[in-house]
Parts: sequence; C-alpha cells; structure tokens
Amino acid sequence: MAKRTVEVGPTFEGWQAAARALLQEGVAPAEVTWREVLRGVSEAPLLAAAAAAAPASARVPRQFLELARQAAAAADPTRWALLYEILWRLVHERRDLLADSGDPQVRRLNALATARAPASADTAEPPGAGAFIPPGATLEQLRAASARCQGCDLFRHATQTVFGRGPAEARIVLVGEQAGDQEDRKGAPFVGPAGEVLDRALVEVGLDRQRVYVTNVVKHFKFTERGGRRIHETPRAPEITACRPWLEAELEVIRPAVLGVLGATAARVIIGPEFRLLRQHGQLISTRWSPKTIATIHPSAVLRGEGDAEQARLYAMLCDDLRLMIAA
Ligand code: SF4
Repeated sequence: MAKRTVEVGPTFEGWQAAARALLQEGVAPAEVTWREVLRGVSEAPLLAAAAAAAPASARVPRQFLELARQAAAAADPTRWALLYEILWRLVHERRDLLADSGDPQVRRLNALATARAPASADTAEPPGAGAFIPPGATLEQLRAASARCQGCDLFRHATQTVFGRGPAEARIVLVGEQAGDQEDRKGAPFVGPAGEVLDRALVEVGLDRQRVYVTNVVKHFKFTERGGRRIHETPRAPEITACRPWLEAELEVIRPAVLGVLGATAARVIIGPEFRLLRQHGQLISTRWSPKTIATIHPSAVLRGEGDAEQARLYAMLCDDLRLMIAA
C-alpha cells in the first residue's frame, strides 16, 4: 500500500488534528509518513475538518495528551510518527500502555517530553494574526486591521505594520520576506535599497510597479540594534507562521494570475520547504495561491553579491525571472 504523506505544522494542535482524522479513518501508523512544515498546507485543512467531524470515541488517557504536548515541543523530527504510534496502540492495543515503563516507545515518549525545549520568549508559540483579521474584508479593511496586529512580538519594537501596496485587481503579486528599515519608517514595502533594485529591474523589464501588488511574508521589521543601526534579522518560523494569515488574506482577495516569490523565505512559505531557490528559480509552479507561481531571488541578494560581476549576474537573473512572470 502506498504511504500517505501527512504534512504537519510543527505544533501539538497541528499534529492532534491530523492524528484524530487518521485514527477516525483507521489509517495505521505504518501507512503514514509525517512531514514537518512551517504550516500544514496540503492535507492539514482536510484532516482538521475530518477531525472536527470525528466522534470523540477515541478517548485517550489525559496523561498521554500531556506527554504528547510536551514531546511536541522537542526538536526531534520523528516525534510526530512516535506520537501517532503510541496513540494508535493506546486505542487499539492497550489503554494502560503508558504504565509500561519498559516499553521502548513509552521510554522514548518520556525522554522526549522531558527533553523538550524550555518555554522562553524565543521558543514560545505566538498567538498569530488570525484573531486580528476581519472575515470577508476588503484589501483596505485588511490594511487598516493589520495596523493593530499583535499576533507576535515583532510589533513591540517596530514602528508600524508594513502592509502590501498595489491595486486589488493586480495581475501580478510579488511577495518578499519582511519589511526592512526604510519600509518600517515609511510604512510601505520595498522602498529601501532592495526596493530600489526592484524598481530598476521592473523598469528594465517593462513592468509598471503601479500595476503590481507588492507585499511581504512578515509585516513587521525584525532587527537587532548595533552601533546605532538597526540590522535586519531573519524572522523565525513561529513569527512567519504567526504572520502568514495576513498574506493568505491578501492573496485570497487579489487571487493573482501570477505570483512572484522573492527570496528563499517567501519561497519556503508559498511553495514549500523542499523548494531550492537557486536550482528552481524561474520554474512555473502551481500553488494554492496561483497556478502560475514563479520564484526568483530577493532584490537584496543583488546588493549582497560580491563585486560588480556577481551583482550583475544576480541582477540579470532577477530580470530574467521577472520577464517570465510577465509572460506567464
Ligand atoms: S509580524 Fe505579523 S503577526 Fe507579528 S505582529 Fe506584525 S503583523 Fe502581526
């Protein structure tokens, strides 16, 4: 039998929704491959819906849920499969399994639960932007609501939310990583040095920026202060997950014909964790957001290129991929 791959957002709740649905369907642990992603994007919504519809017949000991929640916070990528194996055995073999401290799987579960990452400000799961998003909102209403977002800690240090800019009927949407220093000050995306590179490239390929919607995966600037300067810091997975509902809401409203993905962070979020930017940039890929999704380098990568020749090569790559987006 072909194995079923289940993508799970790296949270206990993500695993629980998927596991309940699999259990309800009678899918044995040996038939499942668990894959950890920033957020379950393929089967997870279906599984969550199935889980919601599932009767609460598969009751398991509270002790297991507590241990599973703790083990979920560990970094071991095999934990999802282990949790489902134990859940399956609790339901199908013996309800008192956890009392068997000599059982190898129970021992592993206990070890994972006690080795979990400490709950600190750096590892705690932020609440996410979902609660701040008005249902059925227009782009303008989303923009206004995003100004009040406290879905993760990034709002505390940044100046303002940097929401996307451009027409709601844009054919092409470009998505970058996060707001930068200038963007944070001006409240608009791609208005700093990387924005200048993008503007130059758009002019070169004949794409009017006024007709493109430009946004970022993470709407607040993340930085560290050094010598009076604010240095860009790459957002962590929990921050990206927390902010993702804004991007999803934007794309839901615009439904772009072509989705241009700028840089590796945005590519991981929109296309998936296995996407390799330097190998696969320029490829036409179908995603849930657009059947014509194309990734390219982030304009800031051009600025980081060592020497004029390398910068020229990267700039040409960016322009070539933008041309593919226009032609798609
Ligand atoms: S980064 Fe995103 S989720 Fe976090 S506070 Fe800002 S808008 Fe909200």
